[in-house]
Amino acid sequence: MNECKAIWRSILSQLEVMISTISFDLWFKDLVPYTIENDVLILVAPLNSFKKVPVQYADQIEAAIKASGSKVSGIEIITENEKDSFAPTETVEDKPVQDEESVNVFNPDYTFDSFVVGDNNALAVAAAKSVAEQPGKNHNPLFIYGGVGLGKTHIMHAIANYILEHDKNAHILYVTSEQFVNDYIDSLKNSDLTLKFRMKYRGVDVLMMDDVQFLSGKTGSQESLFHTFNDLYQFRKQIILTSDRHPRELASLEERLKSRFQSGLTIDVTKPNIETRIAILQKKAYMKKYDVSQKAVFFIAENITSNIRELEGALNKVVYFCSLSGRSTDDLDAVKEALKDDIDISTHVLSMDSITDAVCAYYGVKKADIVGKRKNKLISNARQMAIYLINDMIGVPLLTIGQFFGGRDHTTIMYARDKITDASKTDNLIKAQINDIRSMLEKK
Ligand code: ADP
Ligand code: MG
Repeated sequence: MNECKAIWRSILSQLEVMISTISFDLWFKDLVPYTIENDVLILVAPLNSFKKVPVQYADQIEAAIKASGSKVSGIEIITENEKDSFAPTETVEDKPVQDEESVNVFNPDYTFDSFVVGDNNALAVAAAKSVAEQPGKNHNPLFIYGGVGLGKTHIMHAIANYILEHDKNAHILYVTSEQFVNDYIDSLKNSDLTLKFRMKYRGVDVLMMDDVQFLSGKTGSQESLFHTFNDLYQFRKQIILTSDRHPRELASLEERLKSRFQSGLTIDVTKPNIETRIAILQKKAYMKKYDVSQKAVFFIAENITSNIRELEGALNKVVYFCSLSGRSTDDLDAVKEALKDDIDISTHVLSMDSITDAVCAYYGVKKADIVGKRKNKLISNARQMAIYLINDMIGVPLLTIGQFFGGRDHTTIMYARDKITDASKTDNLIKAQINDIRSMLEKK
């Protein structure tokens, strides 16, 4: 086993008994040991907010390191995109032999069923399914690229899970490009390892290589991958690659490898829109059996827009925070408090909630009434105004607004929006009201 992993495992086993299970699950379980630098164990966290862990749990960490008798003096937390500055260099010394069990393991939760399809990933999913149905036949190689936390690894595992479900003998190899580099370096040590390397990579039906951007500058590994690629391709074996950017933008990558990477289908995944974000949160909550309010889901989806890993992290935090503090996820103040490190609440005044609050304050009506079923004229007018402003100011799709307003049909929402839009052109009173509420919101 790799040294960092062993060290981290023994520190973790100490920590587990020193802190509460819930804090342990929330802050320590998802950290992945990466490397050791100047005696400090570098761990990769899924979210930026984990960076406070070494400070917040300084005493426990120090005690756990001591108790485990490990040689490191402390831990440092980085995020996925900072890995570059610590990336292992291509030297023959000091590389542990690849742990066989660490490959060929697919996350059973990463399936096509658990993946929400939206505008941002529909083409990538369609291509992935067609590859999963007929590996080596349709798109070879399949190259999926896009920013961190947008579902590339999930899609890769989904392809593997699908193939294995239909053919349990299929030989699928999943590696990160870093593992490939490590294996390549090992293969230089002696002829047995060279042979082992060849058999490992060239004897597969499907080769999946995740995050190929880490091959940049590793010329030996690139050359080796080039030959592996050609071999597999020639025998119609499926190759699937992911990267954080388009192959042509991969710096320090040999031209011939870039052109191989682009010779099949190159397709991107982008950031999800708010509708997709809501659907993803609902799916994750359902899968994890979380009891989380619709209000909290909307709030998270409105405020966490960067990527899906952060979205999931925010959902976990809200659920843990509320269960620890005994508050309901329906309580927006609790939700905001749970996420105070992740979002700047003051700059996020525009949300479905804040707009609706402003409209209620302006007309003197209750929020429960306008999101509910009541129909008197004042309430209906206020509701239509809120719908119009939400759509106009933050571009939330009609379907989502319908969900927010107590599950109303999107045609009702469209009617409300169009009614106010038309009135705003001819009716001076409505025009003035729109301006008043807008300026209330903008002043906040
Ligand atoms: P990447 O490899 O692009 O950095 P991952 O595949 O690791 O991203 O995805 C990060 C997290 O987000 C995973 O937990 C994954 O299940 C989840 N995720 C990403 N996209 C979706 C989606 N469309 N539906 C459901 N979950 C998603
Ligand atoms: Mg990934």
